[in-house]
Amino acid sequence: MHDELRVPSRILLGPGPSIANPRVLKAMTTPMLGYLDSDFVGVMDDTVSLIRQVYGTQNKVTFPVSGTGTAGMETALTNVIEPSDAVVVGINGYFGGRIAEIAERCRANVISVQAEWGDIIKPEQIADACDQVNPKLIGIVHGETSTGVLQPLEQIIEIAHENEALLLADCVTSLGGQPVDLDARGIDIAYSCTQKCLAGPPGLSPISFNERAVEVIHNRATKIQSFYMDVTLLEEYWMGDTRKYHHTVSMSMIYALREALRVVVEEGLSERYVRHERNARALIAGAEAIGLEPAATAKHRAPMLTTLRIPDGIDDGTIRKRLIQDYGIEIGGGLGIFAGKAWRIGLMGDAANEQNVLLVLNAIEKLLIEFGYRVDAGTAVSAAAAVYQES
Ligand SMILES: *Cc1c(COP(=O)(O)O)cnc(C)c1O
Repeated sequence: MHDELRVPSRILLGPGPSIANPRVLKAMTTPMLGYLDSDFVGVMDDTVSLIRQVYGTQNKVTFPVSGTGTAGMETALTNVIEPSDAVVVGINGYFGGRIAEIAERCRANVISVQAEWGDIIKPEQIADACDQVNPKLIGIVHGETSTGVLQPLEQIIEIAHENEALLLADCVTSLGGQPVDLDARGIDIAYSCTQKCLAGPPGLSPISFNERAVEVIHNRATKIQSFYMDVTLLEEYWMGDTRKYHHTVSMSMIYALREALRVVVEEGLSERYVRHERNARALIAGAEAIGLEPAATAKHRAPMLTTLRIPDGIDDGTIRKRLIQDYGIEIGGGLGIFAGKAWRIGLMGDAANEQNVLLVLNAIEKLLIEFGYRVDAGTAVSAAAAVYQES
């Protein structure tokens, strides 16, 4: 016999999953409906309409892919790329690298445009790559969760369109935390996930293709190798007149996403973006006051994820273990070249609030002092509190 499932309560301040909104968890206990039940079709339509609203798009082909953010990434690339297509990918962190990896598996000719971790990809670099090849697609990460960089997109989108390439933006971390505005910016393809700034559980990847992108998919010379992720079949189920069965979607996850998006819209998009920005500003003020430096370049920090360099002589694993043990707080370790060198503190969705900022700063400062770091107790919290006093 096994005991009834019990898990400890955690304050999730890592790179995701973030703390799920209680309304979202409650919606998940709603009974199942058949995947072609007209009442369920109504729930699907609501969900698509809410996804469009939060993405800032009228794109018809907008729906949640069954799977996490990576499934959205794979759906976007698998449907658009055919063997030997040229694809330019900006790599300034771990997830740019993953886009390139999947594009290679689609047998694209991948041209990587690299920047230091913590820096942005410069538009000139993308323009140079477009001079070498004629790309079908340019892939770029909007919020790079491995470094905490928020990539400016406008000029890169312009370059993509001058070169008649599609612009693919990874909005996994940015959706619901900072503006993505697909239509206003001219982003052709975007995907995201449920468990970061939308404050839901992991399991779905909202994706959107504009008409240019859909046309490319419909005019492929070769068959899409994935059945599960074939957008021409999925659009029949999600928005076609026939609603033809493709696979059994997770009703519970769609209920969850619908509720998560309702929460986002109720708060107001701009209010939500301001809240993320303000809490990140307080977190950084507190961290800098005790000498913890953000790894992302100053003008381009993603409010939903702050990467802090770990001071010399402090052991990454020990501190993170004690944060869990003593405070129930999870923060992220570094990925790739930042492993052991940086912490990643996520203030995503519901978790982006004053309580969490003050709590995590106090906890980190106390542990640093215990392990010999020299700083006056209370420095971090008072610097953060000063930010909250301002407005
Ligand atoms: C988390 C993340 C992904 C991957 O999403 P999963 O839900 O873990 O599959 C992709 N891109 C970025 C920028 C991310 O932060």
